Amino acid sequence: MADLLKETDLCVKCGLCLPHCPTYTKTRNEGESPRGRIALIEGLAGGRLALTPRLEAHLASCLTCRACEDVCPSGVHYGTIIDAGRALINSQRAQTTREAAMYGLITRKPLLRFVARLLRLYQRSGLQRLARASGLVRLTGTGRLDGLLPSLPPTPAWQDYYPPRSDSRGTVALFTGCVAEMMDTTTLDAAIRLLTACGYGVHVPRTQACCGALHLHNGQPVQARQLAEKNLAAFASLQADAVISAASGCGAQLAEYDQIITDDQRAQPFARSVQDISQFLAGITWPAGITFSPLHKRVAVHEPCSLRHVLHQQTPPYTLLRNIPGIELIPLPGNTQCCGAAGAYMITQPALADSLRNDKLEALKAPGAEILVSSNLGCALHLAAGLRETGTDVEVIHPATLLERQMRIAK
Ligand code: SF4
Ligand code: SF4
Repeated sequence: MADLLKETDLCVKCGLCLPHCPTYTKTRNEGESPRGRIALIEGLAGGRLALTPRLEAHLASCLTCRACEDVCPSGVHYGTIIDAGRALINSQRAQTTREAAMYGLITRKPLLRFVARLLRLYQRSGLQRLARASGLVRLTGTGRLDGLLPSLPPTPAWQDYYPPRSDSRGTVALFTGCVAEMMDTTTLDAAIRLLTACGYGVHVPRTQACCGALHLHNGQPVQARQLAEKNLAAFASLQADAVISAASGCGAQLAEYDQIITDDQRAQPFARSVQDISQFLAGITWPAGITFSPLHKRVAVHEPCSLRHVLHQQTPPYTLLRNIPGIELIPLPGNTQCCGAAGAYMITQPALADSLRNDKLEALKAPGAEILVSSNLGCALHLAAGLRETGTDVEVIHPATLLERQMRIAK
């Protein structure tokens, strides 16, 4: 508690962060601002405020986008404060059934794979179409989850190791994530093909677990730490040059493992070795035999908060995609503001999540892009669901997938 109060004490209540906070700009409510939330957590931690549904709601509506951290002149670690504030709340109330189900599921990969197979069957058998048309999806309250589901690929069997396909330059390890393994095998496959084409052997450790971001940001530091321990063990013996993440939300969490396991000798080097796939590929010299097919399309670039405000690596996707001749890259207007996906936020806070997403969909109209790239799976799912709902024909993919699609390797 003393550490938390020391952290909240750094806030001088200047309010400079307020215009950068999406929930404050939407509501104009001090309780929905970084400064307001810090004051609430300070009061709760110091015993001056009791836990009320209203206080809990103010903390729950934070996106943990960390836009406020970027502009804070006092160097307040807002991310640490909000995570600790939510953990404090959890220590004073019981976990809901929905929370237990959601967080339990993503930590059990075999169960997650089983659910993925069932969902795939639901999609392929025509049941999904029937459930939607009959109104069953709406009646059972699963419409939101159903709307977010992309067309699920078959559950893959990853190799432990993928050898380099050109002169060897080193070895990396790929973090596959939990939901990404189920919903975004296209990006993971593309990452492996790009890395091996560039001369890197790619380890995919079987014992890796969920990154723990959802747990940490929802007040479950013990579970987040356990997952971090599992991942440190899974990657420890590989001696890879870098740990590559293909979803910036996971990458941001992995890169901060040294902050959640401060007493572990392995956590710091691990955290330092984490790189987003675009960051890694933008930093290497490409082999001479690799070229890219032209793409005469306008591509809007969405910059996820985890990439921009946490990893501070929003430039590499542009650097990479500029390798494609003819491509017209446009930063999505309003990239400093969160899209509303924010991990589980798009499910737990639908009104604000959709309002923020509508801003993105509106911003996408002006550039008239045919493709939208996003480096984070959660954002991509949320944005793609919004585009489907509005009948907008814009493909949403990861920058690595687009790059790999255009890649040609000389025989
Ligand atoms: S978090 Fe930083 S910018 Fe915001 S009110 Fe506190 S000191 Fe000012
Ligand atoms: S993390 Fe984002 S939503 Fe939360 S207080 Fe900071 S700017 Fe606002």
